[in-house]
Amino acid sequence: MAEFSVTATELFCMGASFAMSGICYYMYRRSRAVVEQLDRVPNLPIDESLINLIRVTPGESLQYAVIEGTVKLVWNSLSQRAQTDSETTILHERSSMVPFVLVGSDETTVRVQEPFHASGDYMETVHEKFYHSVSTFGDIIGQYLSGVKPKGQLEIEKMLKVGTTLTGVGELIIDKDGTLSLRAPTNGAEYLLSLRDFSHVKDVALSSTFWWKFLFGLYALAGVAVFSWISFCYYHNLKALWRQEQEQREFERLNAAGLQDEEDNQPDNTCVICLNQPRNCVLLDCGHVCCCYRCYQALPQPRCPICRQAIIRVVPVHHT
Ligand SMILES: [Zn+2]
Ligand SMILES: [Zn+2]
Repeated sequence: MAEFSVTATELFCMGASFAMSGICYYMYRRSRAVVEQLDRVPNLPIDESLINLIRVTPGESLQYAVIEGTVKLVWNSLSQRAQTDSETTILHERSSMVPFVLVGSDETTVRVQEPFHASGDYMETVHEKFYHSVSTFGDIIGQYLSGVKPKGQLEIEKMLKVGTTLTGVGELIIDKDGTLSLRAPTNGAEYLLSLRDFSHVKDVALSSTFWWKFLFGLYALAGVAVFSWISFCYYHNLKALWRQEQEQREFERLNAAGLQDEEDNQPDNTCVICLNQPRNCVLLDCGHVCCCYRCYQALPQPRCPICRQAIIRVVPVHHT
């Protein structure tokens, strides 16, 4: 009888499922918090009254607000031109940024600070092309050594076009130079920029909340399923062990009683496997009486040595 043991794969599956459900739950709570923040945030039009409103607020800043305006470049502030380079894991990414503002109905402008720190897909894809890689002999050697084989290169160019309407969610402040600015909230709330209107931004946040919740449930369920499977196997093995012990006790009792002593000397009653011990068990369901209990236990597979049928149960032979 094989000893019960939890395989490394089962443990890994269970651990991974519970870990993933934990991560999904964390993401769910985070996106839930974003949705709650978006529900409370005031939607303000960009005009003269907005500047006046911020001037009278303590600290000259609005912690969290939504604005909607048209993108316009700041040509007269070329000195502030910023260029950011960042490497991605797989391919090279190059981002360049020209300062831009959002213009409201009465030409009031809001400068958008550090737009790359904002989440939300607020740029349009203007170019997308896939290049298949052509491997030279040197490349193949390199790929063999590194174990990484690139399929090709995907070139994507995204751009925020002048004149598009942009929705921004963040902290509104009045800068040192007196310009109204939108920046990432200092209290850690989500900084968002989107090409769609605010209700769509809220819908996106709500749907991501739904998916994180769904994934959390899915992984938790998978973890519980693996745990149940392990428990089931444990119970199954334990039951088999109990039955085996019970059988053994019964055979030992019979041996002690010496019930089969008188048959011991009959040659046609010896076990077909060891040819030594008397046959003392009935293999079920086939019903063959062909071996001793010790040989039955030593069978590599629970199959009858005569007819190869699976052995469901074994009972001692009672001689009268
Ligand atoms: Zn035997
Ligand atoms: Zn049989």
